[in-house]
Amino acid sequence: MKNMNNTTEEKYNTGSNNEDLKGVVFNIQRYSIHDGPGIRTTIFLKGCPLSCLWCQNPESQSLKPEIFYNAEKCIGCGRCIAVCPEKAITMHDGKAVTDRRICTGCGACTEECPEDARELAGKYMTAREVFNEAVKDDIFYKRSGGGITLSGGDPFAQSDFSTAILKLCREAKIHTAIETCGYASWKILEKMLIYVDLLLYDLKHMDSGKHKELTGVPNDIILDNVKKIWHILHIPLFIRIPVIPGYNDSLQNIEASADFIAKELDPSVQTNILPYHRLGESKIVQLERPEIKLAASPPDEHYMLYLKEIMEARGLQNVVIGG
Ligand code: SF4
Ligand code: SF4
Repeated sequence: MKNMNNTTEEKYNTGSNNEDLKGVVFNIQRYSIHDGPGIRTTIFLKGCPLSCLWCQNPESQSLKPEIFYNAEKCIGCGRCIAVCPEKAITMHDGKAVTDRRICTGCGACTEECPEDARELAGKYMTAREVFNEAVKDDIFYKRSGGGITLSGGDPFAQSDFSTAILKLCREAKIHTAIETCGYASWKILEKMLIYVDLLLYDLKHMDSGKHKELTGVPNDIILDNVKKIWHILHIPLFIRIPVIPGYNDSLQNIEASADFIAKELDPSVQTNILPYHRLGESKIVQLERPEIKLAASPPDEHYMLYLKEIMEARGLQNVVIGG
């Protein structure tokens, strides 16, 4: 007789292929309402082929786990130095300095630090473990029309791992969405998108040279991919445009973005314009990456409304401010 006390996890334990595949996850955020329809669990994966100057999650760019170091909390006790197996930490002026070229992200120092000055961004999990976390909120997904969203970083950077999670969700009839910058080979993209119900697709800049300057890569693959996704795979998508004052918020770029969506995709495609916020800036300090220098402030509310009007005037029918 079936055990009526089965957990939700056991109910969905279907023995899917590749469920033991491991990947690096840096956050699992429950009750998200900005990453697709309904109430969702957003799973943030490490690894991204872009390095946008305004990245809100700079800890997502590298594939490996990394240390956040809060120098203000550090009391210079040296306990982290004693436990580091790689000898990656040295003391300078009473502060524990990490050589990030040799740090493996093992996390030993984070457990030893008495002041919580060190925190690990990213841990290895199997696809099944991620799914088991996500499925805990299945009841909310069903009631609200929600589901899970893979974000990052970019889910294509760990495509086999992402696919394994998406497959488990599909088997459990959980709605799946991914947030992507779209910079992936068509072969990888096509294989993974079989298991995706909705794409949240970023457009950062319409000028390829400027795109390369701001994100590290040109935009041709990104624009080609989104056209093929829309016209060949017919997967529902929302376009998302981060608005970064002084970088991509010129009228010329906003109009070019609107024209691309209206002419190459469809004027009815939901387009979210996302005002820049400063959440990533303190993380850059704690990751000790002074090479990332962004001089931007969040855009004015009125300017966002103006950009929405501009896009609507170019024919777009569904422009939303915010996520
Ligand atoms: S995460 Fe591991 S390798 Fe890196 S500094 Fe800490 S103890 Fe050393
Ligand atoms: S263990 Fe923590 S408080 Fe002590 S030196 Fe290392 S980072 Fe600083």
